[in-house]
Amino acid sequence: MRLPVLMPAIPEQRYSCHGCGECCRDFTIELRGEDFERVAAQGWERELGEPFWIDFAGRRWLRQREDGACVFLGEGGKCGIHARFGLEAKPIACQLFPFTFAPGPMDARVGVSFACGSVRRSLGAGLPTHLQEVRRMQASLPEASAREQSADLGSGLAGSLEECEIVAQRLDRWLAEHALAPNIRWEGFMFLSQSLRNADLARVRGERLGELLDTLAAHAPAELQALEVKSPSRRANRMLRQAVFARVEDPKIGSLMRVGRLRSVLSQWRRSRTWASGRGVAPGIAGWPAVHFSGVQQVRGLFAGSESSQIDELFQRWIRASILGGRAWGSGLYGLPVNEGVAFLALNVLCAAWLARAHASALGRDAPTLEDASVAVGRVDRSSGRARWLGSRGERLRVQWLAHTASLLSLARAEL
Ligand code: SF4
Repeated sequence: MRLPVLMPAIPEQRYSCHGCGECCRDFTIELRGEDFERVAAQGWERELGEPFWIDFAGRRWLRQREDGACVFLGEGGKCGIHARFGLEAKPIACQLFPFTFAPGPMDARVGVSFACGSVRRSLGAGLPTHLQEVRRMQASLPEASAREQSADLGSGLAGSLEECEIVAQRLDRWLAEHALAPNIRWEGFMFLSQSLRNADLARVRGERLGELLDTLAAHAPAELQALEVKSPSRRANRMLRQAVFARVEDPKIGSLMRVGRLRSVLSQWRRSRTWASGRGVAPGIAGWPAVHFSGVQQVRGLFAGSESSQIDELFQRWIRASILGGRAWGSGLYGLPVNEGVAFLALNVLCAAWLARAHASALGRDAPTLEDASVAVGRVDRSSGRARWLGSRGERLRVQWLAHTASLLSLARAEL
């Protein structure tokens, strides 16, 4: 039986595709057997003069051009398959984007990717208007209907659906609170993330979990204003840069095949060393002007410019949609337990703040604008939950260390 689907209840969040073609330039699309057969039957191989697919690492992908764009991307950002045969003729991953599924025990949560410019700008129709379309696509994706257990609350500590919901609703209430200044909202999010990560959750079950979060949230604004927060350590700053690198790195299959695996791995290792050192030019942010690490330090915090309230609104929609759309833990985020997933999102916020400052610095601005923040959120969200290495043990240890040493909060005070 198909699981019911649940859209995030965020009236401020809208979306309709505006055909910018960004996703067709950004993503590498894996083809399922049915996708391949459907597209093959459309006769493209003859027209393109080459296969429309590529086999790599035991799987089949849509071929990309030299610049990384999909081979079907046509004039004015239009998809060739869509233009000729309609939406349902495309591979299912292309039809689904920017929506995502995260199945649980009772329903499948529907998330939206902020890698899409229309989602970031909240352009188009309200999310509930897409429900029928999303249900149709769910029928083509067996994994979107496969019932999953509730996420663990902490490592090895099984959680109930009600407990996961308590955490989601309390965090959502904090993030949506109108009366909070942006810095307090996001420092508070770091504070709540660290508290969840460091609490003995085995002793705070059921409604007591909600009471704990209510108490922390009630005292957070006054406490954060009075709290002396230490500057982040060199190690914390290095870890943040490495986390940013892990989120912007996106090897394209075409270039992997051209240069070979070994040379790709070596070049990636060199780039990662440069990010760790924080010296010189930050390598590997494709399509960006050069970012000098020293220049990023000169840019003021994420909310220091004149567009702080618009940036705050964007970040609120992003993280609320991640939590309510099932992309904060469990099946929507590498199977992470709730407390690690929330800390992972906190680190995503810090990475986007760093990238927004980096983008501002590359364009000679002294504080990030909404455009800088939007580009940064798009970069971070395109890999979150999707790039396999972000679910690795190394990344989990990084998140745990940053939460355990209260570095999420100290970095927030420096970055925001
Ligand atoms: S990025 Fe969004 S708006 Fe642009 S083509 Fe893709 S789905 Fe449409």
